[in-house]
Amino acid sequence: MALYQENEVKIYNSLTGKKEAFKPILPGRVGMYVCGPTVYSNVHLGNCRTFISFDMIFRYLKHLGYNVRYVRNITDAGHLTDDADQGEDKISKKARLEKIEPMEVVQQYTLDFHKVMAQFNAHPPSIEPTATGHIVEQIEIIKNILDKGYAYEKNGSIYFNVLKFNQDHEYGKLSGRKLEDMIANTRELTAQSEKENPQDFALWKKASPEHIMRWPSPWGDGFPGWHLECTVMSSKYLGETFDIHGGGMDLKFPHHECEIAQGEAAHGHSPVNYWMHANMLTLNGQKMSKSTGNSILPQELFTGENDFMEKAFAPSVVRFFMMQAHYGSILDFSNEAILAAEKGFNRLTEAIKIMDQLSPVDRSSVDIASWKSSCYAAMNDDFNTPILIAELFNAVKYIHAIKEGTEQISTQDLKEFKTCMQAFYTDVLGLKNDQDATTQDGKPLDGAMKLIIELRAQARANKDWATSDKIRDELAAAGIQLKDGAEGTSYSLE
Ligand code: AMP
Ligand code: ZN
Repeated sequence: MALYQENEVKIYNSLTGKKEAFKPILPGRVGMYVCGPTVYSNVHLGNCRTFISFDMIFRYLKHLGYNVRYVRNITDAGHLTDDADQGEDKISKKARLEKIEPMEVVQQYTLDFHKVMAQFNAHPPSIEPTATGHIVEQIEIIKNILDKGYAYEKNGSIYFNVLKFNQDHEYGKLSGRKLEDMIANTRELTAQSEKENPQDFALWKKASPEHIMRWPSPWGDGFPGWHLECTVMSSKYLGETFDIHGGGMDLKFPHHECEIAQGEAAHGHSPVNYWMHANMLTLNGQKMSKSTGNSILPQELFTGENDFMEKAFAPSVVRFFMMQAHYGSILDFSNEAILAAEKGFNRLTEAIKIMDQLSPVDRSSVDIASWKSSCYAAMNDDFNTPILIAELFNAVKYIHAIKEGTEQISTQDLKEFKTCMQAFYTDVLGLKNDQDATTQDGKPLDGAMKLIIELRAQARANKDWATSDKIRDELAAAGIQLKDGAEGTSYSLE
């Protein structure tokens, strides 16, 4: 019997505002779509939080034995600088500033994203489609929406007619907005706007002569709207209605609201059964965001080279820090919080090592079965990782007590206990002991690294920054991160 048959997962559905029992469309199978990054810059830690939250959800569903098809796109066209219908394409803008091809921008930041996700031990999605790889499908769905009468053409651009759609559907149901209020709160359309109504949004935009990312269409050269790509890629790979759609909370409106409208207009029914939104990572109480400069890059944390933190932190420590909060709660990043997370992570990791030294006896005094069911209950309750981690710390207490002889464990229970700890630590939370690489990779590397770190320290003492930077950068390229901290330099493997 698969684990999912004995574990009913409850999911907080942003569409209904309720926790609901998860029932996949096909028994034993889950289709999940998560909006991926717009690859015009390095992903910051806030972006990573959303992707790590969905990685944990992906991992738990797989742990329960579901066959999960996880689709996470790459936005490589159509996302404009104002996050709506105005401004330049974010990727073309970067390409213009750097004097490189837009696809060079896309390649560079897609590689960075993959590298960071691998450092955080996130599983790759099952399919990672790109917007530019699905222009033909986007044109087809626009024709469909035009045929159904929910869109109109204006000077080579196509706009979705929100007022018309709202006559037969409910625009705003995901974000809890009412169209009448939205209309009351908006200023009049400016004279130069092509839209019939300010709430309308672009499905296709005519490319001005200087717009380099352009494709031919029945309406002339142009480019697709940002919201449309997710409707097209999710329905292509998961069907017109699928189980779970995720993304950051900031995408609820207008991006996901527009996805619902497009899906309903094109296919006549709701595209998604469970909408899930991961909450924001903040820094100094403000949303971490590239545009305001209030952000940290993962590499700055892993190397310790930043203005915010006292020392470097291993990727698993950062991941553990994120897992200590529920994915739906706001989480603030600070020096104290990450230091506390590091202590907790080390305590947990050390306890797992000690498990191998425990000697079982005939009978248990600890109730492993009930502890294990509390772990599952936590995760079944809308993926409540902070409660799971509290249970793992109860386990840490048991481990120390068994070691000291104040509690006993039987052979069978110890086996079960180890399997369950490993399953939650490694498979579900996605943690690994990357704090001290030496335990994983043995003495020879440790010795060699000691020498290299010494040579770099000498170079730094001689103010030979070129050599010290070369050592750090080339080790990083080879997958070894140097961390400068209060107690000297240490290293970790990616
Ligand atoms: P973008 O590349 O801007 O499309 O964003 C990629 C993902 O990161 C989206 O799901 C956003 O909702 C998410 N995101 C952006 N900023 C934050 C943040 N501060 N905390 C958590 N997620 C974020
Ligand atoms: Zn999307």
